[in-house]
Amino acid sequence: MDETLEAFWQEEVATYLPDPAAAVAAALEYVCCPVCEVLAHVPFDFFSRLPVRWPKEPDLQRAVIEAGGFCNHHSWRLANMQSQAAVALVFVDVMAALSEHGPLLTGPCAVCRLEAIFTERLLDALVEHLQSQSNQERFAQLFGLCYPHWRELLGRDLPASLRDLLLSSQSRYARQLRQHLQGFLDKNTPALKQTRTQDESRAARRAILKTAGNENI
Ligand SMILES: [Zn+2]
Ligand SMILES: [Zn+2]
Repeated sequence: MDETLEAFWQEEVATYLPDPAAAVAAALEYVCCPVCEVLAHVPFDFFSRLPVRWPKEPDLQRAVIEAGGFCNHHSWRLANMQSQAAVALVFVDVMAALSEHGPLLTGPCAVCRLEAIFTERLLDALVEHLQSQSNQERFAQLFGLCYPHWRELLGRDLPASLRDLLLSSQSRYARQLRQHLQGFLDKNTPALKQTRTQDESRAARRAILKTAGNENI
């Protein structure tokens, strides 16, 4: 990556994730993974401004064109969000480059790249957040990370106490979720359905959030 685009990525992060620490602290209180919660906004934020930015930002054009467009998932997200005219505005330039360079173009999709940079920043902020004893105690009571982001964080060189917290809190939540899922199943009769607790009623969705992370990231 040359310096021009490095500056472009820094600017994107400053625009879309100006304060990772505040973003993590706020997202921790939702009943989902805090990293996923922040990432879920990225494709929408990026694609909603893309048609307006495209004609006047050559670095943005380069970032998209050098990747040959977007990945499958993000291309369809764009197609579902924007008009055909907006898609055409971007892809007329992508096709012009592809017609000249074809297989020479490589690199991750711009939105995937932003998500990867954001994930790093958010995990950095979470590690920092969990330096404090009171934040650790609060974290142990919350939903915590989805398994993909949890595994990513555990791949880092972490202090033993933080590693223990991540392992024990994840295990506690999985145990509790298993009980709620079982409760949901045990009450799967016309007579008992109405007696399900709120946690039992939400358990199936939470199991997906926990194992796979949020939708649309
Ligand atoms: Zn996650
Ligand atoms: Zn992508």
